[in-house]
Amino acid sequence: MKTIYCPECEEKIKADIVQREETFTVKGEKISVPASVLVCSKCKNDIFDEELDGANVAAAYNEYRKQHSLLLPSKIREIRERYGLSQRSLGRLLEWGEITVNRYETGEIQDAVHNEVLELIDNPENMKKIFEKNMHLLSPSLRASLKKRIDDIIQNTAEERFQLHLGDYLLRAQAINEYSGYKSFDLEKMHQMIVYLLDHVKGAYKTAINKYLWYMDFLSFKEYSVSISGSVYVHLPYGPVPDNYDIILDLMLSKMLDKEEVVFKEDVVGERFIAKTKPDLSNFEKEEIKIMDCVISHFKRYNATQLSKYSHQEKAYMETSNGEQISYELSEELTLNLK
Ligand SMILES: [Zn+2]
Repeated sequence: MKTIYCPECEEKIKADIVQREETFTVKGEKISVPASVLVCSKCKNDIFDEELDGANVAAAYNEYRKQHSLLLPSKIREIRERYGLSQRSLGRLLEWGEITVNRYETGEIQDAVHNEVLELIDNPENMKKIFEKNMHLLSPSLRASLKKRIDDIIQNTAEERFQLHLGDYLLRAQAINEYSGYKSFDLEKMHQMIVYLLDHVKGAYKTAINKYLWYMDFLSFKEYSVSISGSVYVHLPYGPVPDNYDIILDLMLSKMLDKEEVVFKEDVVGERFIAKTKPDLSNFEKEEIKIMDCVISHFKRYNATQLSKYSHQEKAYMETSNGEQISYELSEELTLNLK
């Protein structure tokens, strides 16, 4: 109910907001949408209302876009902003004139050919091709920044796809049973365990990282009957290691870890990892953080060789042989306890 002037009754009246289907003509086509209309309670005529009628027309335009598979204005803006371009500079790059993009983003329906181009450049590989053809239309500084932006997006997309694919593979490869600590493998969580560890010990060798992870997961199982990461561990000559540990670490290299090679003697080279980011423990339980702290404080004075030797006297290690998966049930006799 709204009090408003009715031009028919020529006085202020009470008007109702009525829901009904309305038909609009969009680009020569009849489009029907559910609409809200202001109706005079006295003479029952419709009364113009800028806000309501504007929303009805916008709904009809969007319905037209849906029926013709056209991008919504919000999607057009999203594509443009992803490349860090103004409405004018995108228009210039696409040779559309300077105000065209603005018109599309503020509600005008784009023509079909323009829509196709916008869908194409949603893919950064296509954007790159258009950029290479038309970059002379942009200022030198914009040219440089857009080139970098497109290359970054292409690289990130490739990395994301690789990561997703690998995460899938790792997840599928591991069943939920005594070898995973009755948990499904959580790659992101294992990554955060590694960052948390490296942040505390200020860098560590691969062999040491593997031992720390094993103790964290196995101590968690010993105390709470469930592992932290859901990783499977395998018996290798230097001690227990997470299954696929090389892949797990490689995936972290560009964003989370730095790797440096350390030469011990002439030919002996070790890989030392350092955290590039701060750990994000938002997905961890309090108990899990306690377990990680306990393992870190217990071993922080051990070097990689000592840590490896220490793990060799664990029953879980002694009772398994080379290449064999280690059952979490063996954590019962772990020499470590939660303090
Ligand atoms: Zn009226």
